[in-house]
Amino acid sequence: MNDMTNPPGAAWSGPYGGLPPFDKARVADFKPTLEAAIAAELAAIDRIASDPAPATFDNTHAPLERALRDFDRAAAVYRTFSRTMSSPEYQAVEREMEPRLAALRDEVVQNARLFARIAAVHEGAEAAGLTPEQARLAWLRYTDFVRAGAGLDATAKNRLADINQRLAGLYTRFNQNVLADESKKVPLDDGTEVPNTRSSVEPFLASSQNRAHREKVWRAFVSRGDNGDEHDNKPFIAEIVRLRLERAKLLGYATHAHWRLERSMAKSPARALGLLEAVWKPALARVREEVADMQAVADREGAGITIEPWDYRYYAEKVRRQKYDLDDAEVKPYLQLDPLREAMFWVASELLGLTFTPVSGIPVYHPDVRVWEVKGDGGRHAGLFYFDPYAREGKVSGAWMNAYRGQERLDGEVTPIVSNNCNYIKPAPGEPVLISWNDAHTLFHEFGHAVHGLSSQVTYPSLAGTNVDRDYVEFPSQLLEHWLATPEVLNRYARHCRTDEPMPPELLEKIRRASRFNQGFETLEYLSSALVDMRLHLSDPPPQDVAAFERETLAELGMPSQLCMRHRLPHFGHLFSSDGYSAGYYSYLWADTLTADAFEAFTEAGGPYDRAVAKRLSEHVLSRGNTIDPEESYRAFRGRDPGIDALMRKRGFAPSPLGAGGHA
Ligand SMILES: [Zn+2]
Repeated sequence: MNDMTNPPGAAWSGPYGGLPPFDKARVADFKPTLEAAIAAELAAIDRIASDPAPATFDNTHAPLERALRDFDRAAAVYRTFSRTMSSPEYQAVEREMEPRLAALRDEVVQNARLFARIAAVHEGAEAAGLTPEQARLAWLRYTDFVRAGAGLDATAKNRLADINQRLAGLYTRFNQNVLADESKKVPLDDGTEVPNTRSSVEPFLASSQNRAHREKVWRAFVSRGDNGDEHDNKPFIAEIVRLRLERAKLLGYATHAHWRLERSMAKSPARALGLLEAVWKPALARVREEVADMQAVADREGAGITIEPWDYRYYAEKVRRQKYDLDDAEVKPYLQLDPLREAMFWVASELLGLTFTPVSGIPVYHPDVRVWEVKGDGGRHAGLFYFDPYAREGKVSGAWMNAYRGQERLDGEVTPIVSNNCNYIKPAPGEPVLISWNDAHTLFHEFGHAVHGLSSQVTYPSLAGTNVDRDYVEFPSQLLEHWLATPEVLNRYARHCRTDEPMPPELLEKIRRASRFNQGFETLEYLSSALVDMRLHLSDPPPQDVAAFERETLAELGMPSQLCMRHRLPHFGHLFSSDGYSAGYYSYLWADTLTADAFEAFTEAGGPYDRAVAKRLSEHVLSRGNTIDPEESYRAFRGRDPGIDALMRKRGFAPSPLGAGGHA
């Protein structure tokens, strides 16, 4: 590796092939470091693009991989601070640098000489005898460029740039309108007011005994962005959808949905729709049962009402208490953070042979962050795991996984460095951190992403670990959640914080039964949103009147009157605050379908800890990164395509008439 191409920050020093230099991180250094990294990347790309030799994989993709890797290395500390150590000083750097990083990405994709070489390598892949991994990288890179407009003539490129710019403005307007409506509290006639946000409205609807109040709050919440005033989003949505269709056609795709799904496991809108539609009927049947249960409660109480959408959560909560009698406060004393962390390490060791040993002296950005060395078979060093468990100022809420460095072996073996980040409240010294059942799931979920990153065995950095399609990336993480509720984990690690007793079997049974509670409601409110999303982005011509489109689509589906879409179009941020999850809201169900089906591979064999199945999971899924089409990878693991029956069982629905292998 030529030192001239190495931007400052790219060369990490220390053991394990170098460590992120968190100890030397100073916000004041971020800007010059990034500027040098940008210059180094552009210089490297210019060298590749102006190479007089005919384009080959080795003189095009290999150096491009190095350039992108070096950039990522140099930017790693800056990027980590964005979510974990933000501050006004940091945010000033972010505001200045983010547009420049976006411009860098545009400049690379618009480099016509580079694109010509990428196209040449892709077209000649077979003749050149590229390995399957190289051919996939050549294809992925080629489609990245095509999808961003690299193959267009100058007029079309200009139009594309105009569309993207206009869309960016519309996304901002959309967001601001939703925020404006969410910031208007809903006044009630008893003098109180309810914030118009999900985290306030949902508990209110579940608990308020005043039906008129529930109706008022519900109506305000589902009307965000849809009030015919200056914050009405409907005209913006119509324009966004129109521009997306125009852009898709400009790029050579039938619709926006086709453009989005080309790079997904589902591959085509028809297959994603097929899954959503297959689950609709069983979910609808379950909703009818749930409504009947709630109506029975209301009738017994002599409420004299018919269940309406603003009653659903209120009566569902009553049914939950009567049928399941589960109280989170009863569960929490058994769920301590430290033992559960050891539990997930134990699962990784049982399933995948990965062992975790704490190491000290590794630079961290905050004293609460701890580091473990991960070893694989035969005691080989497999990577590092950083864990940042507690909430603090400047740290984004929620939980996530990060890869500070991906695994690769382009120029010799490079091991992965990953982190898990959560937001538990830091306890007083010596006190345990007690977490909810949901939080314990999240802990295992994020660890599933970490294990995906740690298991990677690929050559090229951009194909490593979790760099996979959106509808596939949640598969390993959702899958790992299933091991939390195994008796092996609970008996050993879920012990009462004072008595050290294991969780009583009755409590465990309650948890298990309650996990299927209200699944009809949750599935249908999700499905209706996902179906409207997909059908909207398949419309050609696009609808002028989005309210009518939403109404008619729901009527066609037979949406029951007792519930509403989880996200109505006028505030559906997944679709309209960026391109992010547009024509992509189906992904959650797609991944859960794989998850349910994959876990049954274990239970059909020797149980959750079946070594042979775990080995197949590691070999064909976890280690492969993006070197293989996800469908092929799944088939190699499971011996067949995924079916939806396991999902039906997981959610407690009737078995699907389509049978195994039908969809997903
Ligand atoms: Zn996830």
